[in-house]
Amino acid sequence: MNTITPENEGRETGSSTLASRALSGRVAIVTGSTSGIGLAILEELARAGAHVVMNGFGDRAELAVAAGRIAASHGVDIPFHGADMSRPAEIADLVKLAEDRFGRVDILVNNAGIQHVAPIDTFPADRWDAVLAINLSSAFHATQQVLPGMKRRRFGRIINIASAHGLVGSPFKSAYVAAKHGVLGLTKVTALETAEMGITANAICPGYVWTPLVEKQITAQAMSHNIDRAEVIRNVLLAQQPNKQFAEASEIGALAVFLAGETARSITGATLSVDGGWTAH
Ligand code: NAD
Repeated sequence: MNTITPENEGRETGSSTLASRALSGRVAIVTGSTSGIGLAILEELARAGAHVVMNGFGDRAELAVAAGRIAASHGVDIPFHGADMSRPAEIADLVKLAEDRFGRVDILVNNAGIQHVAPIDTFPADRWDAVLAINLSSAFHATQQVLPGMKRRRFGRIINIASAHGLVGSPFKSAYVAAKHGVLGLTKVTALETAEMGITANAICPGYVWTPLVEKQITAQAMSHNIDRAEVIRNVLLAQQPNKQFAEASEIGALAVFLAGETARSITGATLSVDGGWTAH
């Protein structure tokens, strides 16, 4: 078993290192980190000095190259676990990998998510079940797995990637909106149950961020509204986003690093919007 101590690792290298490698020696799991926002969060955590377990789908050989590149750039360890986040036993195995390899999990980022767009009356029941399992229940199962160790060590950071759709609804996204509202509820309960134990639980609510998940929605919305791509971007996807621009995934990564750090210890149970003003309406 590896016995890295986050309190000591990297501390002797001077104040600039301390500032830029604020998570040196910490151990993180980011679910759904083979693409989009999860991959950006993984990169930012690694840049800040954390070892990160990568999870998600994709070509194993390509993922190994990507993980190796990030690990080498930042001098951290990035093992991979391909748990399907709709399967609780695989989630337990993902957490076990981190605990066996590093001795603990300090930071859990529940990010894995899928979308399905259809009116309620024709929404396929199996898609409803999949969206709820991957976007909501997986966060419960992963949190349940990491909390005992976090409580013992009296340190933990749970960061749930919700959405502006955790705060407001949009037509044709019943399962996603229901799941993301549920994530905010789970976040609040996690924060309340752990408030005196050095653990925080917070939700980040992005508006539209340019990722493969959004790219798929452009196509789906264009078909559903029978309009072209540019019109979908400005008048459908960004219709509610007052700054009229997609956020960069790295912006979400930077906020996750902040929430994972020592100076965010009093921020818990919070909903942090990164949505260009969408939910200020
Ligand atoms: P993405 O499609 O680029 O990435 C999704 C990730 O989840 C991938 O790594 C994929 O392999 C993984 N994944 C999907 N199903 C999985 C499963 N069953 N088991 C394990 N991994 C699985 O999506 P994204 O846009 O980066 O979204 C990431 C998160 O951010 C999601 O929770 C999404 O709801 C949320 N979000 C995204 C936006 C946006 O505009 N992109 C806005 C708000 C919230």
